[in-house]
Amino acid sequence: MARTLTNSVEHPLTGQGPASADSREPDVAGIDTVLLDQLPESVAVCSADAVCLYVNPAMERAFGRSRLDQLGRVLWELYPDMLGATFQERFRRVAATGVAEEFECHVAQRERWFVKRLLRGHGRVYVFSREITAEKKQEATLRGLYDETRRAQRHAAFLAQASEVLASSLEQEQILQRMAHLAVPTLADGCCVDIPGPDGQVRRIAMACVRPDQVELTQAFHARYPLRMDDAGGIGRVLRVGVTEFVPELQPALLEQALAGDPERLQATLALGVKSYISVPLISRGRVLGALTLVNTDAVRRYTQADVRLAEDLARRAAASLDNGRLYMEAQDAVRARDTFLSVASHELNTPLTSLTLNVQALRRDLESRSAATPPEALGAKVVAVQRQLSRLSSLVRELLDVSRITAGRLRLEREELDLAALAREMVPRFSEDLSRAGCELRLDAPGPATGSWDRLRLEQVFQNLLSNAIKYGRGRPIELRVGADAERAWLVVRDEGVGIPPEGQARLFQRFERLASERHYGGLGLGLWIVKQIVDALEGRILVESAPGRGSTFTVELPRQKAR
Ligand code: ADP
Repeated sequence: MARTLTNSVEHPLTGQGPASADSREPDVAGIDTVLLDQLPESVAVCSADAVCLYVNPAMERAFGRSRLDQLGRVLWELYPDMLGATFQERFRRVAATGVAEEFECHVAQRERWFVKRLLRGHGRVYVFSREITAEKKQEATLRGLYDETRRAQRHAAFLAQASEVLASSLEQEQILQRMAHLAVPTLADGCCVDIPGPDGQVRRIAMACVRPDQVELTQAFHARYPLRMDDAGGIGRVLRVGVTEFVPELQPALLEQALAGDPERLQATLALGVKSYISVPLISRGRVLGALTLVNTDAVRRYTQADVRLAEDLARRAAASLDNGRLYMEAQDAVRARDTFLSVASHELNTPLTSLTLNVQALRRDLESRSAATPPEALGAKVVAVQRQLSRLSSLVRELLDVSRITAGRLRLEREELDLAALAREMVPRFSEDLSRAGCELRLDAPGPATGSWDRLRLEQVFQNLLSNAIKYGRGRPIELRVGADAERAWLVVRDEGVGIPPEGQARLFQRFERLASERHYGGLGLGLWIVKQIVDALEGRILVESAPGRGSTFTVELPRQKAR
């Protein structure tokens, strides 16, 4: 007699109608269903060819299908996405050998995990299934947390080490080289630090690689394809824009596309073997000092956001340490400059003072020895010399006073309406003695008027410094002084044909204490042009220099005619 297999639906094999819950039979097709019905774990009992003969209520609940739906059907046809080829193989093996198997089963599409057990008994195969999704998810969370903690620990240890390295010296390139070595291999297979170089180039100042041949390979690559500040991407862009660039996976296909027109470069780029990289800016006080780049050539490891955070943290510390190094160097330079200045200043003050003393002594002797009457011309010449030395001394002292005044922020302008051309015409006679002693002819081209609202004494100082430099450095050659104006601006140009200034020195000319010419041949405190620049800046103008060694120099001062509101 055929028996009902379920208590709720018609049995598909027997065609019998549903029975009431109470009428559920304890034994179906030789299976003791009473026990199996109670189990919290899903159970399906199948024939050797996997046809479902029985499923328990837990299985109905777990997979949301009624018994009616399942009985009489091949198990894996019911659950094709869960019971794939591996399961089927196991099932057949258990059906054939009777050796039970237990295994984990991951249903990727649904993110569910199960532990399955297959047993053979009485010619049937029992399929036990327990869902472990919750445990798996918890485990994954814990593993994630653990990994995160481990990573945080590793990162903290690395940063502690890095901080030590960064504090170990104030010499910038040395610090960065050590840092690059520290990053390899902990953080990267290759690490480099680049800074903005001259003429839009990028200058590499530190580099370390896991494989020594990689250093040479990369150097050869960049010698052939130099990095530039105006590059659309990569290190050049990081230096220019000051924003991190993170490429978690460098796609060869994209590279091939980008370098399709240059197969040689593509080959060379692929040979570098870069799989992913992070390039972070070293920023201090809003200025991009450099870029730290971590490169990964490992096929398995990929950089993540956590690595980017670490690189940025490292870059922050490196930038701070670079800044400290720079400040230290600047302080050292300032101390050196002060010491040089003191010795130059004492020498400069002492020279006219010595001649002055000698001349005054001679005059005194002449006055005392009334017998030997000194001819008036000789006396006159001595007095002129005394005047010259006094004026040299007072101009040196004035420069020194100006420096302390300007440095203390006390350059106050007394503006008045005046004509720059008239001022130039007034100034020239004051230089006649210096000009004739230096053998220079001065050509004045100041038709005027060139009026504006400026400070008379300060502009006199500008003329004074530029003309006396032209005389000093253009000895024996003609000098040209031009003044002009248009609706907005007025300008004065001082041109000499003297020693000139090499291009590399021109940027430094206007700095304090900067002296380029040989100290033995030319006296001076290195302050004149600095003072001129401060005055021109205060008048909202600008000063330009054009010069070439041996070909003379042209200094042009441009001033707005009225103060900007
Ligand atoms: P200094 O008192 O030394 O002349 P300045 O500030 O006036 O100081 O000039 C700074 C430096 O610039 C000088 O030491 C000199 O090397 C250079 N310089 C200035 N003017 C000229 C010029 N007309 N020709 C060549 N070199 C110049």
